[in-house]
Amino acid sequence: ARTPLIAGNWKMHKTVEEAEAFIQALLPRVATFDSVDVGICPPFTSLQAMVDSARGSIVRVYAQNMHYADQGAFTGEVSAPMLSELDVHGVILGHSERREYFGETDKALALKVPKALEAGLEPILCVGETEEERERGDTERKLRHQIQEDLAKVPEDRLADVVIAYEPIWAIGTGLTATPEQAQEACAFVRALVGQRSEDAAQRVRVLYGGSMKADNAAELLALPDVDGGLVGGASLEAEPFSTIVGAA
Ligand code: 13P
Repeated sequence: ARTPLIAGNWKMHKTVEEAEAFIQALLPRVATFDSVDVGICPPFTSLQAMVDSARGSIVRVYAQNMHYADQGAFTGEVSAPMLSELDVHGVILGHSERREYFGETDKALALKVPKALEAGLEPILCVGETEEERERGDTERKLRHQIQEDLAKVPEDRLADVVIAYEPIWAIGTGLTATPEQAQEACAFVRALVGQRSEDAAQRVRVLYGGSMKADNAAELLALPDVDGGLVGGASLEAEPFSTIVGAA
């Protein structure tokens, strides 16, 4: 009963002109799909244009980050009310690239996730282990820590409104995809962690897989019982293969 979500995280790619060309190519390809939610996550500079171009379609627009304060002396940052004013649907929070390169902490995420919900945005919270953590047998410990910390201030009745993306860091941009067994096991574990707060939320929360999802492995991953969609990087930069992945959901 969980509607799958396929979201394309463009990262730092596409000018407004390139984003427009993408959406014009995507819209006819996804026009006949129902029973799947489609998201694109452009850089801030293309959000307004993408919201305007996607209006009336099944494509929803997400930002890639936001600050936890509504406003303030935070040069270079963007707030939740600024995103909701644009009719942006949601926001990626805690992507591993933000954690690794920009000092994103679980402490900040514990403020960002509830702030997004309060502002009417759907958060896509990213969690996942490094290759070293997996080899040490610390995958579950890492996931438990991130989920517990990052969702600590989300009230129980809003937990199911968070989308959680399991993105093993060793699979991001590497061409190495988690095996179906690894993806299922980790996504089921994430759901069980939500279940420790609320069994009802665990049944309703959407858990996505991310990390080198492509046209030729999407169907297998998306068929897994605890995988409710995908967060797609490289393969989301062109309408094709992205629309093929949407069709596999
Ligand atoms: P790739 O699909 O390029 O591995 O990126 C995954 C990702 O980080 C999505 O957020």
